[in-house]
Amino acid sequence: MKIASHYDIVIVGSGLGGLVAAVLLAKEGYNVCVLEKNNQFGGNLQTFVRDKTIFDTGVHYIGGLSKGQNLYEYFKYIGIINDLKLKKLDEDGFDIITFDDDDKEYKHAQGYDNFIRQLLIDFPEEEKAIYAYCDKIKETCSKFPLYSLNPKDLSYDMNVFKLSAKDFINSITQNKKLRAVLAGSNFLYAGDESKTPFYVHALAVNSYIESAYRCIRGGSQITKALIKQLKNYGGEVFKKCEVVSFNVEDKLVNSVELEDGTEVYANTFISNIEPKFTVEMAGKEHFRKSYTHRISGIESTIAAFSLYIVLKPNSFKYINKNYYHFKSSENIWGTLNYTEDTWPEYYMLSMGIKDKDCEYGDSITIMTYMRYDEMKPWKDTFNTVVKKNHRGQSYEEFKSDKAEQIIIELEKKFPNIRDCIQEIYTSTPLSYRDYIGCNEGSIYGYVKDVNKPMQSHISPRTKLDNLYFTGQCLGMHGILGVTISAVVTCSEIVGKDYLIHKILESNKAKS
Ligand SMILES: Cc1cc2nc3c(=O)[nH]c(=O)nc-3n(C[C@H](O)[C@H](O)[C@H](O)COP(=O)(O)OP(=O)(O)OC[C@H]3O[C@@H](n4cnc5c(N)ncnc54)[C@H](O)[C@@H]3O)c2cc1C
Repeated sequence: MKIASHYDIVIVGSGLGGLVAAVLLAKEGYNVCVLEKNNQFGGNLQTFVRDKTIFDTGVHYIGGLSKGQNLYEYFKYIGIINDLKLKKLDEDGFDIITFDDDDKEYKHAQGYDNFIRQLLIDFPEEEKAIYAYCDKIKETCSKFPLYSLNPKDLSYDMNVFKLSAKDFINSITQNKKLRAVLAGSNFLYAGDESKTPFYVHALAVNSYIESAYRCIRGGSQITKALIKQLKNYGGEVFKKCEVVSFNVEDKLVNSVELEDGTEVYANTFISNIEPKFTVEMAGKEHFRKSYTHRISGIESTIAAFSLYIVLKPNSFKYINKNYYHFKSSENIWGTLNYTEDTWPEYYMLSMGIKDKDCEYGDSITIMTYMRYDEMKPWKDTFNTVVKKNHRGQSYEEFKSDKAEQIIIELEKKFPNIRDCIQEIYTSTPLSYRDYIGCNEGSIYGYVKDVNKPMQSHISPRTKLDNLYFTGQCLGMHGILGVTISAVVTCSEIVGKDYLIHKILESNKAKS
């Protein structure tokens, strides 16, 4: 199929936000086209295969997918819920928080009653604090109408943006270990002690406490299911189509231009790429100075280094949970500020899964923070499947040194791990930068700062009437957060109250 010269809606970027928006709008009858620069659709939903083993790049587990829960309802309306092959993580401990100086495994369990029950086993004196923590999470989530699926009032209570995650958790207990355990999965949102608001913690953690699932054979199944639906509604999607500019005339975007010079015209454009870059590609002169100044000054979240391990067959039992491991329980909020000597202060371990009932795992992914400034020697290189290049021998050596450092840390917890390794692969902030197009390889878009709540607020509307944003820079990142961002963006186009009510009513009618 060839790209037509004109569409109702052109969406730039086939990340989750772009694809969900595409399905929602195609379902409304719009003629939609998605343009993706990569060889694979999906952005962070992309998987890759090494030694016949599938690895995820940006989906290790998903929350809110049990019947009736928020993401379930959105995916049901979009028409993909029945296509997903999922495995529920361990109900009594989907996330395990551990520390070098403590052999105990602290559990985050699914379902609030169970979550409380499991924590009380380790912290029997802390009932009041644990209840206060859960109540605050639930209260906070209830203030986000599209998250709580309670759209009576679509406005926000601004006070919810002003509470710090670390301050709140510290305020409910003096028990330092409990504080560390409650904040232990803060990699989920790149938690920063002086900046992260409690609502970011609450929205992320709540969805997994409600239910936590792993994608069997990786998260790219979400992409496939979305594209299937998009095509059902007559939408089109094209890969290897890098957009290089948004062409603006009379305060409206007329067309986008592809790398090969092709122009694609539309009435409305949605950018699923970072707002910072979108504004540059449209030309800063078309926006107010204060706006471009604010957007270009927004801080991006830190980047990551990932180690992908292909396991020898039948060597390492599959673990149906994730580990968040810290060198010290005293430094839960400070692991972003690692030094060369202390790296990695922390890692998250997650296993891949080929089928529902496997006894042995075939892969492990380990993720930890890595600042972009470590990439300085190679920052001018670019490498993807579409534009292949070598970053050089020094880069390869850097990666294998870092992989070895992680394996040494892993051996403390899993003493036989080295014997189980068949092959290792790695990715750095440059891999994410080049594949996703995100600023400096940032994992989750823009930093939410409790001290400046409006600074990083991005509206889906821009100063150009027919240009909208969607994706993880808009509201919350993650599969749930980005799905909601697409609903927010599409609501601006088809009607604010209209879409969410249609979603809820259509789902009700079907159940
Ligand atoms: C390491 C890591 C682990 C994660 N783990 C989880 C997890 O376990 N659970 C969870 O819920 N979330 C997780 N996330 C977050 C989640 O994956 C993301 O928030 C989400 O997928 C982002 O979607 P998006 O719509 O913002 O698009 P993105 O994924 O940012 O995709 C943007 C797309 O735009 C394309 N693009 C960019 N520039 C252009 C251009 N000029 N022309 C055409 N196309 C372009 C890119 O190629 C890409 O396909 C993780 C993220 C990372 C990085």
